[in-house]
Amino acid sequence: MAAAQAEELPHVDPATDPTAQALKYSEDATQADRAGAARPGKAPEEQFCSNCQFVLADSGAWRPCSLFPGKAVSENGWCASWTLKAG
Ligand code: SF4
Repeated sequence: MAAAQAEELPHVDPATDPTAQALKYSEDATQADRAGAARPGKAPEEQFCSNCQFVLADSGAWRPCSLFPGKAVSENGWCASWTLKAG
């Protein structure tokens, strides 16, 4: 998906999105409990949607995520399913 298209997707809203709540998604990773989740692959403070395996664009402030079909997550976000992008 082109970055321009991704920018037009509705943003995941943690206040109303059950998946976001279940996964503790925050559009500001520094506000999320990355240390508590202790996901492997990178130090907690280096984990962002932008370097997650599930993000579906290489650039853009807002990007599609395979866990949130039809919506966009912040490049600076994080959720408990964070997984280091391979390659
Ligand atoms: S799966 Fe990855 S890209 Fe999607 S919201 Fe969670 S941390 Fe962000």
